[in-house]
Amino acid sequence: MRPGYDFQGKRVLVIGVARTGRVVSLFARGYGATVTATDTKPESELRAAAEELRAVGVQLELGGHPPELIRGKDLVVLSPGVPSNLPLVVAARQASIPVWSEVELAWRFLRGKLLAITGSNGKTTTTALTGHLLKVAGVETFVGGNIGTPLLSLVESSTDSSVTVAELSSFQLENTEALRPDVGVLLNLTPDHLDRYASFEEYAAAKMRLFSHQLDRDSAVLNADDPAVTKRMPSGQQIYWFSRQKRVAAGAFLRDGQVIFRREGEEVSLVRQQDIPLRGEHNVENVLAACAAACLAGADPAAIRSGVETFRGVEHRLEFVAEINGVAFFNDSKATNVNAALKAMEAFPGALIVILGGKDKGSPYTPLVRALEQRARTAILIGEAAEKIARDFGDSVPYVHAETLERAVELAMSAAEPGDTVLLAPACSSFDQFEDYEHRGRVFKQLVRSAQQRSFSG
Ligand code: ADP
Repeated sequence: MRPGYDFQGKRVLVIGVARTGRVVSLFARGYGATVTATDTKPESELRAAAEELRAVGVQLELGGHPPELIRGKDLVVLSPGVPSNLPLVVAARQASIPVWSEVELAWRFLRGKLLAITGSNGKTTTTALTGHLLKVAGVETFVGGNIGTPLLSLVESSTDSSVTVAELSSFQLENTEALRPDVGVLLNLTPDHLDRYASFEEYAAAKMRLFSHQLDRDSAVLNADDPAVTKRMPSGQQIYWFSRQKRVAAGAFLRDGQVIFRREGEEVSLVRQQDIPLRGEHNVENVLAACAAACLAGADPAAIRSGVETFRGVEHRLEFVAEINGVAFFNDSKATNVNAALKAMEAFPGALIVILGGKDKGSPYTPLVRALEQRARTAILIGEAAEKIARDFGDSVPYVHAETLERAVELAMSAAEPGDTVLLAPACSSFDQFEDYEHRGRVFKQLVRSAQQRSFSG
């Protein structure tokens, strides 16, 4: 039994009035709490949500977070984008008021199993794939969390036999108290968000909270090839590994071109590696992790095979856009950190023109140099981080400055030769020039498609 939360007579402060905050406010109000919702955005930008919330008696404090808002509150719930070091949040903690992310609340009310996936890279792909595998296997499946739908909005549909597959970010995990997934997956740990964490250790600790409350009947699925993961191996639950490089005692691995799942000494062959439709070695890791998780959540091997073979990937992740005069264009706008960009580049064996840059996130770009020395015809730099990237590349990688994505696509078109790949894999976040990575990816696709139109008509 999950602990739930008794909202009757409680005063709840919800921070953030976007998609998640709206759902949390309505949920808490529905269970009888007195709810205040606050956002730094003014009423003019939140009009629809504000009207809806007021109508059900939620008090609103918009255009800022006055410190007295925490006075008399029993619980503070954070939306995913709200930083944990917000003065109001710090003050709440100092006043010993519980501060939860929305996923803690959701977990307390969800029915059925929770299969939660975290890591620095590959979360969305693995979450979408795991959800797809379970659906193909006929399991009643819901998919949510950081991938889009707030977990709390899945509570009502969940049943005792359903599996909810959730993508969880380090920010969401940071403010959990008892959240306990039946199956927890940690894909990898590489430096990311160092603009928001004091150290890598602190960031890793947030991710490891996924396993803190697991019991011996629960499972952890861990990357055996990532030393940052193996050295933090949790204890107290059943451990399953996934590995691209070696056979594991329990979990998923490759042998003779097949994905094998091994459990209690029994092995089952799931799918041939050559039938994995996703590009890149990193996606083999995602497939191994998803296969292990789906097996543990009850999917049968035949369904896993057909599920892997029919998975089409997720938008903005190594997404093929178009081929123009023999040059292939790929959109990996979601490569918002250095490691993700590196994996994306490694997925292409031939000559590469890579568009990099955006808002810097605090990690060095030097890890890209080796991959680019070998395969880059040129790097094209955009956004705020361009100077820093250029400094880190020195004389080792040819680069040009484009500033904007539009100019970058033009330069890429003129530099590319037939057989080349043009790859948007920025290694940075997008907020200097775009609303988010999706916006950046869409703009890139539009620019490429207009170039394609021009090439047809010219
Ligand atoms: P997340 O949700 O963790 O950001 P995504 O599935 O959206 O992960 O993928 C983000 C980017 O990270 C992809 O565009 C790809 O370049 C890279 N990536 C995906 N899976 C992995 C992995 N297992 N290891 C390293 N990089 C990966």
